Amino acid sequence: MTSRIGIIGGGFAGIMTAVNLIKKTNTPLQLYIIGEKSSFARGTAYESYLDKHILNVSTEKMSAFPDQPSHFLDWVMARSSFQDLPKEIVAKSFLSRNLYGDYLCELWKESIKIAKEKEIDVLELVDTVIKLTNLSVGIELSFMNSPSIIVDKCIMATGNQIPKNPSIPNFSFFKSSNYFQNPWKKECVSNVDDSLPILIIGNGLTMVDTILGLQDNKFKGEIYSISPNGFNILPHRHTGLIYHAHLEEIHDKMSLKELTRVIHKHVKIVRQFGISAEPIIDALRPRTQGIWRNLTAAEKQFFMSRLRHLFGVARHRIPLHIYDKIQKLRIDGLLHIQSGKIVDITETGGCIDVRYFDKKQRKTQVLKVSRVINCTGPETDFSKLENNFLGQCIQDGIFYQDELKLGIQTNVETFKVKYKDGVEHSNLFTLGSNLKGELWESTAVNELRHQANAIADIILAEVNLIDDSNK
Ligand SMILES: Cc1cc2nc3c(=O)[nH]c(=O)nc-3n(C[C@H](O)[C@H](O)[C@H](O)COP(=O)(O)OP(=O)(O)OC[C@H]3O[C@@H](n4cnc5c(N)ncnc54)[C@H](O)[C@@H]3O)c2cc1C
Repeated sequence: MTSRIGIIGGGFAGIMTAVNLIKKTNTPLQLYIIGEKSSFARGTAYESYLDKHILNVSTEKMSAFPDQPSHFLDWVMARSSFQDLPKEIVAKSFLSRNLYGDYLCELWKESIKIAKEKEIDVLELVDTVIKLTNLSVGIELSFMNSPSIIVDKCIMATGNQIPKNPSIPNFSFFKSSNYFQNPWKKECVSNVDDSLPILIIGNGLTMVDTILGLQDNKFKGEIYSISPNGFNILPHRHTGLIYHAHLEEIHDKMSLKELTRVIHKHVKIVRQFGISAEPIIDALRPRTQGIWRNLTAAEKQFFMSRLRHLFGVARHRIPLHIYDKIQKLRIDGLLHIQSGKIVDITETGGCIDVRYFDKKQRKTQVLKVSRVINCTGPETDFSKLENNFLGQCIQDGIFYQDELKLGIQTNVETFKVKYKDGVEHSNLFTLGSNLKGELWESTAVNELRHQANAIADIILAEVNLIDDSNK
């Protein structure tokens, strides 16, 4: 019997798993790829309402294939609009996320052609999976609208969830048409009026995207951003500078305290030369998963509560020309970055009162705004999201979350999720953001391309074994 493989999620992780399965398989497959939107391949990140939304990783590092590092750069250079530009500059540049989406769509189209030649049946299903049931004959996937299907192997490539709502007593505000829980939708920056400021909760990369969106929609009013620390987002300042001296002193088994001591020491060294911490944090990237996996639960907790935001500022940076725009808004008094905690939000007749505790002033302040956009980042505790498929699976005992509720408990060698007793599921896999609890760094193309490649190998090895045993 042909093996039936279901992939939940049509973003980078889901599509690249399918691309690798199609490329590598020698046996016929029935492949279901399930997405909530008909535009497969782009996912949330690479289908933006604005072409000015750019990648936060340079062109040379965005190949979809781990064994072909210049694949995306070569694809870009082959396009007529780039052919006359110097390759070294394009390699270091930050291109439009929509362009990257075009790249993924082209890869997916080519793979569908290859699938036809190899007689692999690929079915794209546009629907939301709402329930997963273990049956003796496979895994049943139930949908919001379509009839259910049964697959032999299922890969959950569900990606980034929307942000959770702020913890305020007035829940009714979340139903307001002036509150936007999903910051990646065009509506949150359309039809804005300048008579009152806008509040953005959070001050990371999504805040920057939202500001660009508001500006593109000719919003001329003031913007407030509130986040716990009010850290200033940083530009890429030391492009091309590589610093590795600290790596010799760092090993996976060291405590978080020892690690921070080594990092502090090297930050002090580079500061003497006018260089900030970012190259030190960048160099840690290949080691972060190993370091994270060896931290104790208490150390992970400490990192999350005390160091995560600092680490995030050094890790998630923006290109200089975008940074300049943000700084200009601040200088012109149009962008105010506050550190604090929202206490409550109420709305009367289109005017929203945001009460927040201002950390600097040490008192509660009230802001009057016309809309609130939630840019606090993807939520990883699935119980905090309404009607959430992964939350439903946890309730049904299919898998469970780590103590910090960062992801799904999974064996990261096999990508198989675990039941609460630690036993691995035999046919249920996951990758990407769902592995954040296990690996910490498991969100960007850099990690996902390796995972999509590896998961395809694992599944095909198992499928071939099953097919052989059926002969
Ligand atoms: C705005 C933004 C910009 C980013 N920019 C970069 C960048 O420049 N470089 C980089 O390396 N990384 C970037 N990232 C990180 C990004 O997470 C990854 O690069 C990658 O896009 C993640 O792909 P994914 O398939 O795991 O998730 P997603 O792209 O989120 O795709 C998951 C898909 O699963 C679908 N889905 C979820 N649940 C269900 C369900 N129950 N039923 C059916 N379908 C479901 C969703 O609708 C979604 O389409 C960015 C992320 C965001 C959000």
